[in-house]
Amino acid sequence: MEVKCPRCGRTYSKVIPPKCVCGEELEITYDYSIVDVKRWSGRNRGVWRYKELLPDVRKVISMREGGTPLFKAKLGEELNLNIFIKDETRNPTGSFKDRFVTVAVSYGLPYAENGFIVASDGNSAASLAAYAARANRDAFLVVPKKVDKGKLIQMIAFGGKIIRYGESVDDAIPYAKELAKLNGLYDITSSSNLIGLEGQKTLAFELWEDLMPTHILVPTGSGSNLYSIYKGFRELLEIGAIEEMPRLVAVQTERCSPIASEILDISGKTEFTKALALYVREPINKERAVRAVRESGGTAVIVNEEELDLGEKALAKEGVFAEYASAVVVPALFKLKEDGYFEKDDKIALVITGSGLKSVYEERERSMITGTKLEILRILRDSPSYGYEIWEKLAKPMKYQAVYQHIKELQALGLVEEAYKRGRRIYYKLSSKGLRLLENIEE
Ligand SMILES: [Zn+2]
Repeated sequence: MEVKCPRCGRTYSKVIPPKCVCGEELEITYDYSIVDVKRWSGRNRGVWRYKELLPDVRKVISMREGGTPLFKAKLGEELNLNIFIKDETRNPTGSFKDRFVTVAVSYGLPYAENGFIVASDGNSAASLAAYAARANRDAFLVVPKKVDKGKLIQMIAFGGKIIRYGESVDDAIPYAKELAKLNGLYDITSSSNLIGLEGQKTLAFELWEDLMPTHILVPTGSGSNLYSIYKGFRELLEIGAIEEMPRLVAVQTERCSPIASEILDISGKTEFTKALALYVREPINKERAVRAVRESGGTAVIVNEEELDLGEKALAKEGVFAEYASAVVVPALFKLKEDGYFEKDDKIALVITGSGLKSVYEERERSMITGTKLEILRILRDSPSYGYEIWEKLAKPMKYQAVYQHIKELQALGLVEEAYKRGRRIYYKLSSKGLRLLENIEE
């Protein structure tokens, strides 16, 4: 591994900064002439299979991350396209970030006597907590106020030291940097730790080995994943394993689209999105990510908040439970298909970055409450009612049993509760949680 400034020639080792002191962006390179990709197939699948193109480390802290499955999506039949799902939810802590963290933690171990630190909107922090635990080091996790609950629970379970700071990860990054300096911690924040990005790029190697797609749709927050996938393919070009780079497609939401807007040359917003992992207002890797997409000949797609639910449901039909921040790629796929962007023989890979199990529960419930269930909640807001009465008020061509089933499910979700009994009739009412949810939906 070599880190040499392309402008002034300074070289770096040990703790690698993202930029040279002269201001130039740094990049990690290797002696590509000695890499023999045939050796890879004899090794276990996973990040460390590609060790010639990873930083040297004294000790590998690993949980067999990477080597995630790639499989054909049923969705492709409907769209008459070849669609594949790269299921990164299968990583040890449920997200693609484990690729980053295994390399960053293994490399950073000698510099992390006092521990590791990361600024993260969730997945990186959950992952670091796990890997630091394995490495017997402390993990300091600077996370914004709004974090997916499941990710927070992971951080706590792994014994991470959680520091809540700021509205989005943008605020947390400089704070983590400061804490790292003051306390001698090794900072693995993805926008500033080039070493970890080396781990992330292995996703490109796997896509090449399993399929060699023509297009890759990538959920985009900080832009670090886009950039690292790009770097992986560029190294394959360098080695001579491929002749052409696949087209990279950056996907963001209309609420927060700093990278996609730049690529599309339109003005975009940087507001809160329920795809929490994509809520990055000023992505530090923006330039790198934009360049990656442009040099690959790709494009960007912006999807709206409602389409996230649609994406999640479509993936659920494939048996994949994705977080909103990952589900964005599905509506993006539909849009590109509609625009006639693809050719029939294209091979399209959807990168599903993180598991839905980690996401906020209230958001989940909100997306599950539609149609008849929503009408039942509205009826019960007006006054407590019993089953048959609700069925009458709905005045829908459906069996009473179906209405009763909806009530049971709403009860199981804690949105509806028994108000009182009159004879054999059970009157139901909205719980305070149900009322809150209804207000939320009708906002
Ligand atoms: Zn320099």
